[in-house]
Amino acid sequence: MFFENELVSHLTSQISHLKSHKMNKTIKGGEFLIKETAYQDVFIPEEFDEEQQMIAKTCRDFLVTEITPILDRIDSQEEGLMPALMDKAGELGILGVSIPDQYGGFGKNFNTSMLVADVCGAGHSFAVALSAHTGIGTLPILYYGNETQKAKYIPKLGTGEWKASYCLTEPNSGSDANSGKTKATLTPDGKHYLITGQKMWITNGGFADIFIVFAKIDDDKNLTAFIVEKDFGGITMNPEEHKMGIKGSSTRQVFFNDCPVPVENMLSERENGFKIAVNILNIGRIKLSAAAIGGSREVLSQAINYSNERIQFDRQISKYGAIRYKIAEMATKIYAVESANYRAGQNIDDAYDELVAGGMDEGKAKLKSTEQFAVECAILKVWGSEVLDYVTDEGVQIYGGMGFSAEAPMDRSYRDARINRIFEGTNEINRLLTVDMMLKRAMKGELDLMGPATAVAAELMSIPDFGEEDTTLFAAEKKVLANLKKATLMVAGAAVQKLMMTLSKEQEILMNIADMAGYVYILECTLLRTEKLVSLKGEESCAGQLDMLRIYMVEAVDGVAKAGKEALWAFADGDEQRMMLVGLRRFTKVEPFNVKDARQRVAKQLIEANKYIF
Ligand SMILES: Cc1cc2nc3c(=O)[nH]c(=O)nc-3n(C[C@H](O)[C@H](O)[C@H](O)COP(=O)(O)OP(=O)(O)OC[C@H]3O[C@@H](n4cnc5c(N)ncnc54)[C@H](O)[C@@H]3O)c2cc1C
Repeated sequence: MFFENELVSHLTSQISHLKSHKMNKTIKGGEFLIKETAYQDVFIPEEFDEEQQMIAKTCRDFLVTEITPILDRIDSQEEGLMPALMDKAGELGILGVSIPDQYGGFGKNFNTSMLVADVCGAGHSFAVALSAHTGIGTLPILYYGNETQKAKYIPKLGTGEWKASYCLTEPNSGSDANSGKTKATLTPDGKHYLITGQKMWITNGGFADIFIVFAKIDDDKNLTAFIVEKDFGGITMNPEEHKMGIKGSSTRQVFFNDCPVPVENMLSERENGFKIAVNILNIGRIKLSAAAIGGSREVLSQAINYSNERIQFDRQISKYGAIRYKIAEMATKIYAVESANYRAGQNIDDAYDELVAGGMDEGKAKLKSTEQFAVECAILKVWGSEVLDYVTDEGVQIYGGMGFSAEAPMDRSYRDARINRIFEGTNEINRLLTVDMMLKRAMKGELDLMGPATAVAAELMSIPDFGEEDTTLFAAEKKVLANLKKATLMVAGAAVQKLMMTLSKEQEILMNIADMAGYVYILECTLLRTEKLVSLKGEESCAGQLDMLRIYMVEAVDGVAKAGKEALWAFADGDEQRMMLVGLRRFTKVEPFNVKDARQRVAKQLIEANKYIF
């Protein structure tokens, strides 16, 4: 046991030890599968500094005072309410966190904007309006605009004086976003493009001042992006969509009828629109994961509180193992994905710093740094949104009949959660992209997947190493993680070799590989965060985190084993299949761990605190 001042000095020395560790910032997107990372090289949310915590507190206070009390009014789309709330958020600086100082913002790094998305993620429809405005609405101009465009639009977007929307989707062009039919034609005097077409599902459409519109000039193959002001003329819209959830978020069909857009409002270059759309979506995806985890934390806290209040069979339902199981599982999944969100956020910040130090223009570096981690962004979009769905579903269940009542909070959370698996690229598309992007990088020589995959194949032929067991803390977990990487490389490598050109059409197998890679990534991030935490605070104070790490490890092992087996059954046969199935069993071996007791311990801590505390 430490006395308080001893604890402080212990922590200070630990932190300086961590700082003195030479930061290895060279990890590239997708490399988690083939490289080991030291815990000193990851950022964990417990390391946010005082200023970042103040920003988070501002957001939290804003939700508590301005949003949560009026969720019903927001959902009824009371005239003018959402824009007024955005104005208030703008006054508090929430909209300008990641906008550079020269445009009136606070110029904070990427991970700070992740923190804002995370905290505001509990804000239901408001969170959607906020993220559409600050993300897909503002960032195309910030990252692709020229100086004149940035100077004209960014300061007003940063304060909320102007609100933004992003018009990519069309009735016949959703996942296949580059197939849009909206046209742009140059006027004979060469001063304007006339935009004509129909955009669908446009968030903030009802009150936006600025529309980022993607259209094809003449018979171009690729989209071009334009900044369109509401008052340019030729813009009409359908009434608000009636939706299953996020009812307070404005969602409109927007029609452009010969809308005259000055030529100087083209963003970047002709036919660069699809690239803009994709790159901006990368950022949207990782931020969606942050928001989903923020929402999940709120739901779990409410569910814990309800379980402590609700009495059945003369006992609080929080005393029952079945409920404690749910609470611990919800917490574990939140803790795991949260670890990955901030590790990836920091990777993006580090990549940005390196690129700028290497002489790259700041705007370009912003884009390049997120592009480098597009694989992780896609994984996080899938994992974050699926954790939120899991958590809200179990939240409803813990509330029982009240979970199904529109008078209790789970109803809204459950309905609002569902959209996250659909927008910012559906989870199917993001799973496919995860593998597609990794393979493309491998083919370009940017990511050496085949070398390690071949090494794993050779290892399969060798006799397993029964050397002395390493019993130090985290050794067993690291071994499991290393083996899961081998399992993933084995299956992915064999699939590439066996299926070659047809692999891109074998979606079920690609989904299996995406799941394996996803489990590996999230487990590694959870492990590294826990290891870092233990190094800072000691094992005893991290008992809950250690339990959650091990609970998640068991889930990851099972998930990798299942996905790997299904893939091998589908594409391999004969001796080769038998050998790889034996390898898969070897690589997905885990020592017995009493997950039941671990869940009980995690749940106990949460139930005593009456909220999520990790
Ligand atoms: C509330 C809401 C807000 C939105 N906000 C915006 C916004 O602000 N701006 C904007 O531009 N868009 C917005 N969208 C649109 C959203 O991004 C799209 O709905 C989404 O990309 C999916 O497109 P889709 O609806 O056409 O589905 P589809 O593309 O028709 O997909 C239908 C199903 O088929 C699957 N699928 C499609 N193609 C493939 C494939 N190649 N392989 C395997 N499976 C496939 C999908 O995963 C999905 O399960 C919003 C949507 C909603 C519902």
